[in-house]
Amino acid sequence: LTDPFIKAKKILEKIECHNHKAYFVGGCVRDFLLKRSIEDVDIATSAAPHIIKQLFDKVIPVGIEHGTVIVRYKHESYEVTTFRIDGIYTDKRHPDRVEFIDKIDKDLERRDFTINALAMDKNGVIIDLFNGREDLQNKTIRTVGNGYDRFTEDPLRIIRALRFSSQLGFMIDQETVSHMKKVKQDINNLAIERITNEFTKLFKGQYLGNGIEYLQQTEVHKQLPIIRDYPTIINRLPSPLRPLHSFGEVIALFHHIEPNVSLETWVKQWKCSNKIKQEAIQLVEALDHFNQEGLSKWGVYRLSSLYYEGFVRLVELINPTKLIHLDEVEQIDQSLPIKSKKELALNGNDLIALFPDRRKGSWLQKTINKLEYEVVLGNVNNTKKELKEWIKWNPPEIN
Ligand code: ATP
Ligand code: MG
Repeated sequence: LTDPFIKAKKILEKIECHNHKAYFVGGCVRDFLLKRSIEDVDIATSAAPHIIKQLFDKVIPVGIEHGTVIVRYKHESYEVTTFRIDGIYTDKRHPDRVEFIDKIDKDLERRDFTINALAMDKNGVIIDLFNGREDLQNKTIRTVGNGYDRFTEDPLRIIRALRFSSQLGFMIDQETVSHMKKVKQDINNLAIERITNEFTKLFKGQYLGNGIEYLQQTEVHKQLPIIRDYPTIINRLPSPLRPLHSFGEVIALFHHIEPNVSLETWVKQWKCSNKIKQEAIQLVEALDHFNQEGLSKWGVYRLSSLYYEGFVRLVELINPTKLIHLDEVEQIDQSLPIKSKKELALNGNDLIALFPDRRKGSWLQKTINKLEYEVVLGNVNNTKKELKEWIKWNPPEIN
């Protein structure tokens, strides 16, 4: 066993001590066998959620009705889910009701792909009821059971297949592909947030090109908001393609490829958070500025440092002839005399005092903006004295 499992082993032991079964399950077992780094260790157990609550000090009931709680243990979080069978997905988010069971077999059977339907006990013994290990060996994504039924049951699995092909660089089994094509219309009934979540992971995948090929081959993109109206966006993606780390970056790229679709529209139709929206807005502005002036002080100043890496990634994709390096952006950042408007040595009240005869008006904001620009560019030092001097020579227009 590797580190994250050794740490989590104590949880399995404690559950087993109380005469319940418990296993590592899903993505962590898959990634362990692939020798990939492990994101989070998920646990499946025969113990009901209320038992888990009793056994551990810190338990967060995140999805108790579906049998999932988070156990906090030694500064780590573990999703612990009771073995279950899923009912139907009427709301296309969660199964209407789930039934808790005490054997793992049926729990593994409800899982999407054979490579995700693996479990491992505390000693590293693998439970593999659907030849998941063989599919890992052959780098194949294949549904557990009949693909048509499994995709109809939860069409999100269609997008998940693409997401895993992008993350793992695996092929998708031919029959699974044909079932994806048959059921793809059902994607329209899904809650968009679920799609956005998987689509973000698709674009983050190390083998994004592989994922995009399957996206085109299955024509699943023609079922997605906006992209169904502009399907050529997918054909016009830059090549070579490199992974993007957030949906804000993805929107910025799509907007570059198809400027006819506004950021507003992307954000609305894909139900993005405000955080993603702000990211997309800033990235698009920074890219526009970069296209006009190259890497500049003002461009870097306007962009939050949170997005420097994404900006560099996008420049590399969109503008490979004008490559920039993160170091360059950070150097400019460090050389900036101020980081925000708040740091300006002169404020609105100072301006009013300087021009006592003038009425308050838009000239105030305009002047502050102008000062901000001149300070950032280094044309004037950010001291009250020098800013006042500068204003004397460049008096604001009245309006
Ligand atoms: P990652 O490493 O990206 O988190 P993961 O395999 O852990 O990949 P999750 O979305 O975290 O993916 O889901 C955890 C597990 O739950 C999966 O491995 C799979 O067994 C099961 N699962 C998740 N979503 C579905 C679904 N829509 N249908 C069936 N099984 C699912
Ligand atoms: Mg996971």
